[in-house]
Amino acid sequence: MTLTAASEQAQTEVVDLCAELIRFDTSNPTSDERAAADWVVDRLAEVGIASELVESAPGRASVIARIAGDDTERGALLVHGHLDVVPADAAEWQVPPFSGEIRDGYLWGRGAIDMKDTVAVMLATARHFARTGTKPARDVVLAFLADEEAGGKFGAHWLVEHRPDLFSGVTEAIGEGGGFSFALDDTRRLYPIENAQRGMAWMELTANGRAGHGSSPNDENAVTDLAESLTRIGRETFPIRLIEPVRALLEEAARLYGVEFDENDIESSLARLGPVADFMQVVLRNSANPTMFTAGYQTNVIPGKATARVDGRFLPGHEQELIDTIDRLLLPSVSREWVNHDIAMETTFDGPLVDAMCDAVRAEDPDGHPVPYCNPGGTDAKAFTHLGIRCFGFKGLKLPHDLDYGRLFHGVDERVPLEGLRFGVRVMTRLWQSC
Ligand SMILES: [Zn+2]
Repeated sequence: MTLTAASEQAQTEVVDLCAELIRFDTSNPTSDERAAADWVVDRLAEVGIASELVESAPGRASVIARIAGDDTERGALLVHGHLDVVPADAAEWQVPPFSGEIRDGYLWGRGAIDMKDTVAVMLATARHFARTGTKPARDVVLAFLADEEAGGKFGAHWLVEHRPDLFSGVTEAIGEGGGFSFALDDTRRLYPIENAQRGMAWMELTANGRAGHGSSPNDENAVTDLAESLTRIGRETFPIRLIEPVRALLEEAARLYGVEFDENDIESSLARLGPVADFMQVVLRNSANPTMFTAGYQTNVIPGKATARVDGRFLPGHEQELIDTIDRLLLPSVSREWVNHDIAMETTFDGPLVDAMCDAVRAEDPDGHPVPYCNPGGTDAKAFTHLGIRCFGFKGLKLPHDLDYGRLFHGVDERVPLEGLRFGVRVMTRLWQSC
């Protein structure tokens, strides 16, 4: 099946929609989402789609819309994207980061891949369905969210806590974190579809010691104890824990490369997988990296206290292992408390929605291979999991093989290929028709 000319308009306007979105400076912090949210309401209203704008705090706006599907008895599909972006320093960029400029086949600007591209795809697809009177296979709830980049306190988490009614009947969700292409070689691509996420264990460490003169002996120096604890954490090699989505991706890559994958000899197996091994290093194990250290006020004064921060991440099913490891590495004088502690997630890679995502990718990219994927970080999906919603990361973005996608995230000269946006509309259209 080829998508008809009716979707041509959607594939054309998706570029303009994305450019206009980029021109709203929704930097988080320093700005807000209200103007962009009003604009989303207008773009939906233009084609007769009613929506609700919800403010969690002045200016912190999200927009929710519900599109009736063919089968209203089935659970609804939530499709969510965030309106905010991380800040950008214009001096570092080749183009002004909020200009939405088109150059060399790319649309440039902050948010071009994280994630105003997908927001534009959601809008273009919804407008296409409305204009043509097409219904999705089941109800689709669209959520354009505030505050993802700062953890969703004014966005997804706030809505889940204060307005769960907006998501009533939703059983499954797709958001950012997967569904992009990853080049295997010159002709073939993986499409990692996120069905797992690592959890967050950000902690503050405090060493309590004995204050004193900097010239005197002191075997209870808080700075020394904290530094030693941090060094142990930073140098710790966490063991490989092969969770199911990671194993499945590595096995499929090995099959496509025609090399052996032996899960009892991971290191050798990884060595045969080239760029895939580098891509997957981050989700092979738990991790904990010291990131901040504060102590003292004068060279000749030993402070009684020193504090530090550690960014800890754990794989689904391995949270306790991370906590136990950290506690083993800390000296007795050092205590820890959570700064940000959030769940890991994992769902099985099966069912009609997974089939529909895989089929949509294969239909638009015959050399594309959908695979399960564990996101090393976190997204708004963590919030929706609290409503019992089964969450996936899927955007439908085909990328040129010479583009370093990972580096563009929160990076300088963020840009999205125009063809990638069009591809996204075609994939999303197929998905909504068959989900
Ligand atoms: Zn994002």
